[in-house]
Amino acid sequence: MVYLDNNATTPLDPRVCEVMSQFLRNHFGNPSSLYPIGRDVKEMITAARETIAEAIGAKRSEIVFTGSGTESDNFAIRGVMDALPEKPELITSAVEHPALIETANYLEKMGKKVTFVPVDECGTINVEFLEKAISSKTAIVSIMHANNELGTIQPIADVVRIAKMKDILVHTDAVQSFGKIDFNVTDLGVDLLSISAHKVYGPKGVGAIYIRKGTPIQPLIYGGHQERLMRAGTENTAGIVGFGEAVRIMMTDSKKDKKHIARLANRLKTGIEERIPKTKFNGPETNRIQGTLNFSFYGLEAEAILLALATKDIYVSTGSACSEESEEVSHVLSAIGLKPEVARSTVRMSLGRFNSETDVDTVLTELPEIVRKLREISGLDIDDYA
Ligand code: PLP
Repeated sequence: MVYLDNNATTPLDPRVCEVMSQFLRNHFGNPSSLYPIGRDVKEMITAARETIAEAIGAKRSEIVFTGSGTESDNFAIRGVMDALPEKPELITSAVEHPALIETANYLEKMGKKVTFVPVDECGTINVEFLEKAISSKTAIVSIMHANNELGTIQPIADVVRIAKMKDILVHTDAVQSFGKIDFNVTDLGVDLLSISAHKVYGPKGVGAIYIRKGTPIQPLIYGGHQERLMRAGTENTAGIVGFGEAVRIMMTDSKKDKKHIARLANRLKTGIEERIPKTKFNGPETNRIQGTLNFSFYGLEAEAILLALATKDIYVSTGSACSEESEEVSHVLSAIGLKPEVARSTVRMSLGRFNSETDVDTVLTELPEIVRKLREISGLDIDDYA
């Protein structure tokens, strides 16, 4: 199998799997229980929290575990808007993940004012537009750190500089940048930041949010005293322990991983550009998470390419995995100005820790032939798409 959809999810690292299996075999205690089998689990959750805090330069008390990156995004903006009813305005971007866009749409329906900042042809936000959109009624600005479809890295330093001049809170969705770009919350200057375990070779169904000490925020979920009253519900103990292990591995391996992924991605990108005519690379050449490659293959339906590759055991995505079940064209590809027919011909390949040179060779052998054959069958004049 050649798995090139690491932005959708990453395989569980065997070392994480081992730690989680051990945990599940030996620890069933509830971390809220006061006797030893509960306290032991609580200590393991604390250790995971410490590791994650260290990885992003936060304090342990500033990390809250959630059920996903999606929940962290919801919590960040709904929690802050609930805490600041006197500030009913939210600013975000046109290329956010649905976890953010749909939450913003919901808030709009509930009477809040939402501004979506447009992007350029590489997917980078228009900072001047953002600056003009800010008002004394703005509660929070939420701009993602790196885009999941294009890999575009957003100018968070500029966002923070502009927002902080007016004392406005900043959230960033770092689900795709965590482990791929070196950052810490102090240098970034954000007040809230979302991450998710399954994008960093950890388990699915566990995320975390960094909330800078003193940030006004209301919980999304009420109930017990877990997570210092910020997220009620008995913890996903094995998931959290697995997340901690995944981040521990990330901290030791990330330099090596980044180099490895960048080398493979560059070979794949150049190989596709050399071997397949009438393709368009989407996103910036440099200011990008290196392992994300987004290509339009003029004249074709991405789904046909995806299915043809799948018959060869090669797995890629059309645009974004999250929009795969919908007929609509990706909002990100629309936002960068791709015509609908070009957007529909777009395939995303995202590389990860476990990809190899052989994987790249396989794709470079199979993909040009698949594209050639599909174009032959379609009989379309691809010059129309250029
Ligand atoms: N934000 C971004 C940028 C993502 O890419 C994703 C997942 O694709 C999410 C949020 C959602 O994370 P989760 O799958 O943990 O809910």
